[in-house]
Amino acid sequence: MKVIFFLLAAVLVTPILGGCYAVPVTGRRAVNLVDDKEVTKMSISMFDDMKRQYKISRDPAMNDQLRRIGERLSKVVFWDMPDADWEFVVFDVPQINAFAMAGGKVGVFSGLFKIARNEDQVASVIAHEIAHVTAKHVHEKLSQELAISTVGAVGMIGGMASGASLLTVDALSQAYGLTTTMGGLAFDRRKEKEADYIGLMYMARAGYNPEEAIKVLEALDAESANDPVPPAFLSTHPSNPERILQLMDAMPKALEERAKSGMISAPIIIR
Ligand SMILES: [Zn+2]
Repeated sequence: MKVIFFLLAAVLVTPILGGCYAVPVTGRRAVNLVDDKEVTKMSISMFDDMKRQYKISRDPAMNDQLRRIGERLSKVVFWDMPDADWEFVVFDVPQINAFAMAGGKVGVFSGLFKIARNEDQVASVIAHEIAHVTAKHVHEKLSQELAISTVGAVGMIGGMASGASLLTVDALSQAYGLTTTMGGLAFDRRKEKEADYIGLMYMARAGYNPEEAIKVLEALDAESANDPVPPAFLSTHPSNPERILQLMDAMPKALEERAKSGMISAPIIIR
């Protein structure tokens, strides 16, 4: 009992020494036990692997759209990710999916452009993915797993010294939800809702219409009803009324942020 108490105390103390951070936009305090720089380094190399593994789309319309969205979103998240070396890549994959990684690496599968009805809807999905990164949800998830495995395995005091032992490519890709099977949830519901809220504010600050965030969730829902194999994005992001209700609740604030952005009339040239 004493040993367990000691371990629990150590786990509780380590975060204070290891790193407590405030999630942007929501201000929630969260714990990080893993090495920030290491996560970024590994994320960049995983992104490079994906660029080798999947065909990169040369579709001019999709690439133009993603470039514009990237410019606008990276500007509004600048202070939440000041060290990011942004890269936005369209992968020629029919799946409906998008992801963002530490270091500012963003991938969008061409399938997403087919379902999204306008640029605001694509921006909404990407803003949600970037929100997971600025909120350091991958760090938090790995830290939570580390704390649990440390408390569970009495005697593993050495493993608690740092998060290094837990930080493997496998663990990281699983935390991102990028495993080949794409099975299960990448993040728990609380993190998904937090990314929804932060993403909504980001897209609004970038001048996009936040109301499109709800419409794209509904479009994804309709797609999964038609398709016997649900889109990849939905296997990690099951829609639920809770998510839509939260977006509706936050809508007045988001519309206010958009009005303040001064970016509403940013010209979008369609050829
Ligand atoms: Zn998500």
